[in-house]
Amino acid sequence: MICKNCKKVNSDDARFCIHCGSDLSNSNVAVEEGSVDKYFAEKKSAFIEEAKSLADSEMKQGIIWFVIALVITFGSYLFTSEGGTYYVFWGAMIYGIYRLIRGFWYKLNPESLLQKAEKEAKKDK
Ligand SMILES: [Zn+2]
Repeated sequence: MICKNCKKVNSDDARFCIHCGSDLSNSNVAVEEGSVDKYFAEKKSAFIEEAKSLADSEMKQGIIWFVIALVITFGSYLFTSEGGTYYVFWGAMIYGIYRLIRGFWYKLNPESLLQKAEKEAKKDK
């Protein structure tokens, strides 16, 4: 729902606007005439914000995986410095890079997530 006072989007069961604190009980909430497009535009921008933060956490996860793989690889290298075999954790590194790139892609194209969601929704019907 949209707050009539500040025109920002709130969850449908909210009693008060999280942006300006207005009471959202019935009379104050209405999708005004001609505001349906605006309502969906705001929903969309909220979704895109969400997609961006998802992308950020995806990138963070990727970096964490990569760094951990690097640290373990380095650790195993140190332990086997006498010419033994050591392990390079390619799988985890590649997985980390993959998630980093995917996160980066989503950050650049948050709309692609929206389109993906739309496609999924159509498939369900
Ligand atoms: Zn408000």
